Amino acid sequence: MSVKQISKIVVVGGGSAGYISAAMLCHHLKRELCEIELIESDEIGTIGVGESTVPPFVGLIHRLGIDENEFVRATDGTYKLGIKFVGWHERSDSYFHPFGVIGKPIGNHDFYQCWLKARSQGDTSALQEYSPCNVMAEKNRFFHPAKARNTPIGGANYALHVDALLVAKYLRGYAEARGLRRTEGKVVEVVKCADGFIESLKLAGGAEVRGDFFIDCTGFKGVLIGGSLGVDSVDWSNYLPCDRAVACKTASKGELLPYTRAAAQPAGWSWRIPLQHRVGNGYVYSSQFANDATARATLLRALDSAALDEPRVIPYSTGHRKQFWKKNCLAVGLSSGFIEPLEATSIHLIARGMDFFLRFMPDRDCDPALIREYNRRMTADFEEVRDFIVLHYSATQRDDTPFWQHCKNLPLPDSLRERIELFKAHGTMREGVDELFRASSWQSVFEGMGIRPASHSPRVENLEYAQIEQTLKNAKAAIAGMVEHLPTHEQFLKTQTA
Ligand SMILES: Cc1cc2nc3c(=O)[nH]c(=O)nc-3n(C[C@H](O)[C@H](O)[C@H](O)COP(=O)(O)OP(=O)(O)OC[C@H]3O[C@@H](n4cnc5c(N)ncnc54)[C@H](O)[C@@H]3O)c2cc1C
Repeated sequence: MSVKQISKIVVVGGGSAGYISAAMLCHHLKRELCEIELIESDEIGTIGVGESTVPPFVGLIHRLGIDENEFVRATDGTYKLGIKFVGWHERSDSYFHPFGVIGKPIGNHDFYQCWLKARSQGDTSALQEYSPCNVMAEKNRFFHPAKARNTPIGGANYALHVDALLVAKYLRGYAEARGLRRTEGKVVEVVKCADGFIESLKLAGGAEVRGDFFIDCTGFKGVLIGGSLGVDSVDWSNYLPCDRAVACKTASKGELLPYTRAAAQPAGWSWRIPLQHRVGNGYVYSSQFANDATARATLLRALDSAALDEPRVIPYSTGHRKQFWKKNCLAVGLSSGFIEPLEATSIHLIARGMDFFLRFMPDRDCDPALIREYNRRMTADFEEVRDFIVLHYSATQRDDTPFWQHCKNLPLPDSLRERIELFKAHGTMREGVDELFRASSWQSVFEGMGIRPASHSPRVENLEYAQIEQTLKNAKAAIAGMVEHLPTHEQFLKTQTA
């Protein structure tokens, strides 16, 4: 049986999606067997946001064989231990969603269940006192967990804050060094065969680029997947009301914090992402509850130093393409869909999309069975992220603005409703296959948003409470004791990137 091997893949778009895709393709495919060409339009430019990541991004950098310190240096990067949510549950409270583990199992009992049991016995220790990332973030410390494996902070994990433009620049150099051909130009026409497969792209100026397979990384426009192949989007604006953001940069001020800050605002929330030499800021809001001028003023009020550029409004819609992959075209990045950046999941979904593509790598005929499975997997990932984000809004107790009153009454997807009911029973988690957000993430947001199980699991009664009490006490003291002696985030960065 002959394999009609794909011998040329064309990536359209030079934002984070385009260059992550190109880098992954160049790393995984032999250049003698498959040529990779990337077309990008300098005139259109990139979205220029997307600077907070999740831990699998660090894994991607390692898998590509990139030196982490060099990457951090080149992208103005800093370390991220999680996200601090300010004013989401009640206006005056805050909580932390840390990466990594929270506690360790006691015997063969789940840590969270043991902690619930301790609470029922009057122990007032917060769940997050057992999270190495939370304790490090509170003290503004950082250390590589991999270099402290058998210590109390060994279960920590981290992601990066990066400059989006510098990431694309770095990965462009990486991919070009591995054979990527880059063409500057604007796609003005998509030429299709009779069977609907894309044959070539015509650029302004007359050039034509042929390929066997096309990756649409053209941002929200989705020039190939939407514009040419006519794939519609699933609309999730009923679940997530925000539909615009206004963003700007400020100079660094104060301590270099190892986390993203997400502060609730009257009609949405604002982000603060500290890089080495500047800070990325933005306000995500709902146009139903704030106009652009009000949003701009809210953002400027939330800044801790003067804006370095004119705040830029970015409209978006929430949802995803009904098909991520159709015929010989795959949508990756914003062209495939978008869920607001509250948990910094978009760049992760780019890498996920390319991981699955490489796993389901087709020949030139693109077997529909591969396409079906790919679309099913990506839909599941998008739905998981959606549910997690909706939880942050829907569990609010705030009713001080019309926006937060609206959030309290948001409809819940059935999958999220079931997850909450299951958790409320006795803290049990519904974990799917290979999900991004594990039990500790859900527990953190449930706890931060005031959702607690009715009781602990009856199984914990099989463990002596004295053992639980002593283990919790030792674990808390061990984490706190070790974190005291770690370098500050800034000190650590200096030693790694000098
Ligand atoms: C407000 C906001 C905040 C965000 N924050 C985060 C975050 O913290 N973390 C995170 O993971 N993600 C975040 N994201 C998402 C993240 O920005 C994107 O996933 C990421 O930047 C990838 O974008 P992209 O490459 O798909 O699109 P873009 O950056 O828009 O790039 C599109 C590319 O296509 C090219 N192009 C378009 N049309 C044509 C054409 N006709 N011909 C040739 N080239 C063309 C453009 O020139 C450009 O190079 C955020 C998004 C928004 C809107």
